[in-house]
Amino acid sequence: MPAFDLRTVILMSSVMPGLMALVMFSLGRGFPANIRGVAHWAAGALTVSVSAILLALRGGIADWLSIVVANVGIILGTGLWLVGSQLFFGQRPSRRFIALLVLTGAIAMSWMTWVQPTVAGRTLCMSAILTLTYGGNGITMLRFGRGSHSALFVGSMLLVQAVVTATRGLTTLTVDSASAGLFSADLIQRLYLTTGALMSLTVTVGLLFVAMDRLRNQLEQQSFMDPLTGLLNRRAFLGAYQQEREKAMRAGGLLSLLLIDLDHFKQVNDTYGHATGDRVLIDFAKRVAGMLPGSHHLARWGGEEFAVLLPRVAPDEAREHAERIRHGVAQKDDAALPRYTCSIGVACMASSDATIEQLARDADEALYGAKRGGRNRVQLSDNVILL
Ligand code: GH3
Ligand code: MG
Ligand code: MG
Repeated sequence: MPAFDLRTVILMSSVMPGLMALVMFSLGRGFPANIRGVAHWAAGALTVSVSAILLALRGGIADWLSIVVANVGIILGTGLWLVGSQLFFGQRPSRRFIALLVLTGAIAMSWMTWVQPTVAGRTLCMSAILTLTYGGNGITMLRFGRGSHSALFVGSMLLVQAVVTATRGLTTLTVDSASAGLFSADLIQRLYLTTGALMSLTVTVGLLFVAMDRLRNQLEQQSFMDPLTGLLNRRAFLGAYQQEREKAMRAGGLLSLLLIDLDHFKQVNDTYGHATGDRVLIDFAKRVAGMLPGSHHLARWGGEEFAVLLPRVAPDEAREHAERIRHGVAQKDDAALPRYTCSIGVACMASSDATIEQLARDADEALYGAKRGGRNRVQLSDNVILL
């Protein structure tokens, strides 16, 4: 087997996270503001990368750089990773704790390099600190990143690294470095350096995936949600309608649709302002969602119009639901908002005949009937055949 030089391996694998950090910085700048922590992850990766390069140059450059700056840099870098993860998952970042670890590391490394030189002391100190930063980060990832495979992967990697680091610290305490054997300090040292170097690349790439996962989920959610009310948007409603229709067709059921339009909403805007109008729409969405039966789909159809799909609900029952909504909405609920009412058109068809266009046309005609009839009313479509 060709021999490979550990120092070269470490040097090469230390450069990679630095390059990945630059990618992460530039991608992170385009992320929405509510995805936090990515810049900390990138800064951490860059710091770990530069520090690992300095560490790998031990002997070739001054000790203060390759020992003190490199080790303190690794504490800072892994600390930034931890703070990044805490920010990413909406936790309070432990900035002071990390600053304390950096300060402790800086004093300890300087002392054990110049005042009382001891390699074992430095190893022990670094192992203890890094077990905390890796372990803390691993636990944060595993605890809060349950929905994301990337987060679970990175969390596991960090915990493995915490265990390797802790083992390295313990062996300096218990194993005489001159003794040979499976757990000789030399083997642990090599294992530590190799996993450390490979891990920083894996973790950097992993963190990038964690951030991309979050971005994808967020965009996916936005694509079917109305941003003002948090209800389904029309596109998502049409998707839900297709699914319900297929289900109902297999069982031969009915589909009911309510189209709801707020009355004189232009007046609400004109009298109280657009912001109050928005709050009325939010209030309406919240209240109606609480008035509907379990299996329903409620969407913002557009503007001040809303749609409710009620699978397996007959016309009479659909009208009762609509009446309950109309009556509930007309009651003044929030003292800070003006009183408002709504009109509702109800359509119902056998699922095999019910295209959304036909249902919506029927419900819309009924809705306009309700408007013509004086508003704050429910009207059933003329096409409905009462059972
Ligand atoms: P009608 O009883 O006949 O339904 O009268 P209306 O005033 O509710 O109907 P019209 O269609 O004349 O006006 C609808 C108003 O809804 C006009 C528009 O400015 C307002 N609107 C639509 N979307 C929003 C929104 O997102 N926020 C606010 N504040 N107003 C909106
Ligand atoms: Mg309207
Ligand atoms: Mg209206």
